[in-house]
Amino acid sequence: MPDRMQKFVTLRRRMADKREPEDRIRDHREILPDLTPDEAAAQASRCEQCGTPYCQVYCPLHNNIPDWLKMTAEGRMEAAYHLAQATNNFPEICGRICPQDRLCEAKWACTLEQAGHETVTIGAVERHIGDTAWASGWVKPRVPTRLTGRRVGIVGAGPAGMAAAEELRAAGHEVHVYDRHARMGGLMSYGIPEFKMEQRVVARRAGLLTEAGVVFHGGRVLGGNLVFSDLQARHDAVVLAYGAYRPRRLNLPGEDLAGVIPAMDYLVSSSRALIGETAAPEIDAAGKWVVVIGGGDTAMDCVRTAVRQGAEGVTCLYRRDRANMPGSAREVGHAEEEGAEFDWQSQPEALSDVPVEVVVSRPEGFGQRGAVRTVRACRTRLGVPDGAGRKRPEPVPGSAFEVAADLVINALGFTVEAAHELTGDAVDMSPQGRVAADRETRMTKAPGVFVAGDARLGPSLVVWAIREGREVAAAVDRYLGFLPDHVQPEPQT
Ligand code: FAD
Ligand code: SF4
Repeated sequence: MPDRMQKFVTLRRRMADKREPEDRIRDHREILPDLTPDEAAAQASRCEQCGTPYCQVYCPLHNNIPDWLKMTAEGRMEAAYHLAQATNNFPEICGRICPQDRLCEAKWACTLEQAGHETVTIGAVERHIGDTAWASGWVKPRVPTRLTGRRVGIVGAGPAGMAAAEELRAAGHEVHVYDRHARMGGLMSYGIPEFKMEQRVVARRAGLLTEAGVVFHGGRVLGGNLVFSDLQARHDAVVLAYGAYRPRRLNLPGEDLAGVIPAMDYLVSSSRALIGETAAPEIDAAGKWVVVIGGGDTAMDCVRTAVRQGAEGVTCLYRRDRANMPGSAREVGHAEEEGAEFDWQSQPEALSDVPVEVVVSRPEGFGQRGAVRTVRACRTRLGVPDGAGRKRPEPVPGSAFEVAADLVINALGFTVEAAHELTGDAVDMSPQGRVAADRETRMTKAPGVFVAGDARLGPSLVVWAIREGREVAAAVDRYLGFLPDHVQPEPQT
């Protein structure tokens, strides 16, 4: 074992310094800088290089983590990049936005944590490898060396569609990507806020696909100006990678009042303004009392965006406690540092256009007729665990209270758009409400039509979408006769 590694004995885990909260809420830029080369080498050198690398097992892409950590520790950055790129189309993206504490850096995944030391900063090193490669000119478009003459159409330019496009283009096919938005990226461009990942990071990957010869068609809506039968007629294979966007309803009285909006409408409006597609956000929290309902990562993104837009106050209502929330503890910590308030164990019961009597001043126009002014909620206590092991919230009688609100954001999550409606009954949905496909071939009931990403898994993660994109590309290649048959393992979400 070279003495460059196993430095966990003397060296503590350390991330780059976060920007101070009062500085970072003034803009939407990333809050974490890249590690310096010395920091990356030092942190990578903490790896124990254990015989069974569980980090690799728990990474959905099974990245060769110990090997690229060792290369980074030795300063062999170009080799580290090529190794990282071999299993992950977008290493610097995953390095930024994977919830590492639940994946490669989870306490059950890194031997160091189990031995009483802190985990290796795997995500931060992966980001450093990718960013260094871009800065050094090592990232090249994967232009095919031979052309097959086959055309593949992909609906959805999120991480699943982009990863599939890169793989299929490298295999020599003519690849067309269709999306309702004007640019590639999917939720990486129009959902995940810039303070987690700046747009330039996604845009340079999208540019690389174009350089490789992938043709992007923006402003095309499946079920609207993109007709499924035409799509089928024009391509030898079609991949549906259109994500999961249908918001779950609050199912509360007053849900349809003005000012009650789905989380995605809010985040897309903010992203479009930041990208420059609109002059200002169509939905702006500036000067408003904002209530976000939900406890997942989408809720955290809404809360933190509202703070940056200059909301008068931002409250997140969540019906369980902090320990039982689905979102990442890291993101909650960021939101709290930035001034958001959390009302744990609070369950909304109704929305109303009648104002709450509060002593704080209100912005002009607060409480238009027919617009939301108040969220009525009650406290909960946590009962027996549900099937997923999370304690079930029960309302506490007589605990009702009211919160002033003129913007209420529903962040209760999403389901998958019905495929039969978009494809004229050519494709079915599964009983779980996802696009139905054969587990091994990824093909739907329509011959030559495949599915990948959130549309197949339900709402998931970027890293799973990348894996889906790579696997569906292999499935399409096999269908077109360019790869031998073999069985793919089924991903776990
Ligand atoms: P998407 O990224 O959703 O892309 C689907 C594309 O299809 C979109 O571009 C959409 O415009 C297009 N489309 C949809 N319908 C049509 C149609 N009818 N016609 C044409 N085009 C269509 N994951 C992480 O790993 N880390 C995070 O920090 C994180 N944060 C998130 C924050 C938010 C607010 C949300 C909502 C999700 C977050 N996720 C995060 C989850 C992650 O973004 C998704 O799992 C991932 O983007 C799914 O990839 P996809 O390619 O399947 O779908
Ligand atoms: Fe960890 Fe995500 Fe990178 Fe895998 S892709 S090593 S889970 S940060």
